[in-house]
Amino acid sequence: MSKKNVYAFCNQKGGVGKTTTVINLGASLAVLGFRVLIVDMDPQGNATSGLGLDKNSIDNTAYDLLVNGFAFEDVCQKNVIKNVDIISSNSSLAGAEIEFIGFEEREFYLQRILKKIQDNYDFIFIDCPPSLGLLTINSLVAADRLMIPLQCEYYALEGLGQLLDTYNLIQERLNNDLEMYGVIMTMADFRTKLTDQVIKEVKNYFNEKVFSSIIPRSIKLSEAPGFGKPAIQYAPTSRGVFQYQLLAEELLERLGLSYSYLDDSKADALSKKAQAVSATGNMEG
Ligand code: ATP
Ligand code: MG
Repeated sequence: MSKKNVYAFCNQKGGVGKTTTVINLGASLAVLGFRVLIVDMDPQGNATSGLGLDKNSIDNTAYDLLVNGFAFEDVCQKNVIKNVDIISSNSSLAGAEIEFIGFEEREFYLQRILKKIQDNYDFIFIDCPPSLGLLTINSLVAADRLMIPLQCEYYALEGLGQLLDTYNLIQERLNNDLEMYGVIMTMADFRTKLTDQVIKEVKNYFNEKVFSSIIPRSIKLSEAPGFGKPAIQYAPTSRGVFQYQLLAEELLERLGLSYSYLDDSKADALSKKAQAVSATGNMEG
């Protein structure tokens, strides 16, 4: 049996932090020495450009893998940052959504591909597009675990019924192994009462599925993709990065996986930072 290491980051609502989470959680795990594959299933190609690839000049993309039958090895770009490989994407992938319609067993393409290489990685993160079409369905059929990023805003839970219906349907009919695994709260602004209210409401609804590491609104997190780098490289001491590192640790704890920072001073810095945050409630960036 292969390991359960394929995670789909999914929310059909746009701009909730799916891509930012895939890149920065992935990079945080990579720094701890875990091997990570990021699969960009969004024709917007934001994970691709966010990791420094020029989406307009790449030859082999997720489209070639899914539709043209290219080999995984010919499409996968290795070590775009240390320990992170990527299946990149660009606007050509939008065509797949339509072309798939004519294919038999069109929901299973990505699953078949990932099953063959799944054991080469510790984590496979699929960045889904903001829709519930065939690209997202392929992602959920390929995944073992569904991760839902939710923005800390008034309408956070709106539209979620549709996503959960899709999840239930896929779980029932196409992929019994799919598990609703975690909810990640993003773009929190702790100066507002609204953030606390939304977090409470989401925790009421999803209980222990909600990760306790909440990602704050952070300028550094939003600037990093413009430099083609995960924030851990662009602004390693920023608060957003720190929270993504805590999220990585929390995920590893849920999974019962042990880890250690290769460099002791790093662990030391993290624990000092944790104390600073709990003392003052805020930090730079
Ligand atoms: P889409 O649905 O379009 O794929 P998405 O759900 O992948 O969007 P992101 O692209 O990760 O969302 O984030 C949307 C925008 O918000 C981006 O400009 C990103 O840089 C910014 N952003 C994401 N998370 C944060 C954060 N914690 N603080 C500040 N800005 C953020
Ligand atoms: Mg995105």
